[in-house]
Amino acid sequence: MVDFSLSDEQKALRALARQFAENEIAPLAAEHDREAKHPSAILEKAHSVGLMNMTIPEALGGGGLGMMETCLVAEELTAACAGIGSAIIANTLALTPLLVAGTREQLERHVRPLCAGPDLAALCMTEPQAGSDVGAIRTTAASRDDGYVINGSKTLIDNGGVAQLYCVFASTSVKKGVRGISAFVVPFNVRGISVGKQEDKMGQRAINTSEVIFDNVLVSAESRLGDEGQGFKIFLETLSRNKPWIAAASVGVARAALEAATAYAQDRVQFGQPLASFQAIQFKLADMAIKIEAARLLTWHAAWLVDQELRHDYESAISKCYASDIAMEVTTEAVQVFGGYGYIKEYPVEKYMRDAKAFQIYMGTNEIQRHIIAQGLLR
Ligand SMILES: Cc1cc2nc3c(=O)[nH]c(=O)nc-3n(C[C@H](O)[C@H](O)[C@H](O)COP(=O)(O)OP(=O)(O)OC[C@H]3O[C@@H](n4cnc5c(N)ncnc54)[C@H](O)[C@@H]3O)c2cc1C
Repeated sequence: MVDFSLSDEQKALRALARQFAENEIAPLAAEHDREAKHPSAILEKAHSVGLMNMTIPEALGGGGLGMMETCLVAEELTAACAGIGSAIIANTLALTPLLVAGTREQLERHVRPLCAGPDLAALCMTEPQAGSDVGAIRTTAASRDDGYVINGSKTLIDNGGVAQLYCVFASTSVKKGVRGISAFVVPFNVRGISVGKQEDKMGQRAINTSEVIFDNVLVSAESRLGDEGQGFKIFLETLSRNKPWIAAASVGVARAALEAATAYAQDRVQFGQPLASFQAIQFKLADMAIKIEAARLLTWHAAWLVDQELRHDYESAISKCYASDIAMEVTTEAVQVFGGYGYIKEYPVEKYMRDAKAFQIYMGTNEIQRHIIAQGLLR
């Protein structure tokens, strides 16, 4: 049986997220965007109403919910502000390596205290010379009797500098390439971690993105997640599980742009009639709606596969790729519907367009998603 209806609990969660987005995020979105301001007060409130750490088991202080619920919440929060919404949900991504490969002891030690408050985690893979080509990372974790010494620089790290916990990917055997990558969980208070350049981003400016530098950071052997050399596998599984909520976040931004364009088209009069009376504008709005509905269905399907623990790499990649591509298209069309006013900061649509762009780049660029999808087709 196929069932597209939401349960009463899911509807209540979506209503909570919508109310939170309208009351707590939307009024502050422009200010946080303009000033690239970390939303610490909003995170505190989001944590208090249960909108953070939703996929973490209840026994560890999380919400005990699934990817489907995370997608419902992501769409609502990012419709108000993609940067603030992403900051609220980013722990879901950054803590996944622990859920994938952490021992009970590692989960108790690191995840439980983090979930007790509005604390943040960060996922550190990208380096200045290694983005799509993960096998080119130069950060090393040299094995010693008392653990590992991590050296290297990570770049473009969301929550960098404001996170208390870092899931770090480093090479324990450079000559093995991706098979030599291992994953580590590192608290920010260990000696040798520092924060480098704060990135001045085009969009999603409310989430902190920075360099994170590891200078002779000594971690115990118990900080390693999984076996040596399993890091790449853990990373791929982490991305695949989280792509549906990035897709949902893209849908949220696209939906906001469509709502703004629809309202504007009914208000703005040219040639003696509202823009909405011109078929060219009606068809734009209709095409935007078609893309959003299709993206949401792909997203929910991928989230469902993740929650059922069924194979999801192909569908997750499709959802992320399609939803972020249409978010870019829809937000660009929204600017067009607004005409000249769409291009100035007094109206919200230029922000949607800037925010949408990031979804096509992070969590694996959409070129890399197409590579994964083609591999799925050809395997
Ligand atoms: C806002 C933001 C937040 C981010 N947050 C994080 C984070 O929290 N943690 C983290 O580790 N990283 C993060 N990243 C980094 C992100 O994952 C990388 O930017 C991304 O993987 C692409 O790497 P790159 O920027 O080095 O681009 P490159 O890999 O240099 O790619 C440049 C272009 O070439 C294309 N390309 C590269 N290789 C191929 C290929 N084989 N075939 C076809 N096309 C190819 C790419 O698709 C892209 O269009 C973030 C990035 C952004 C913009």
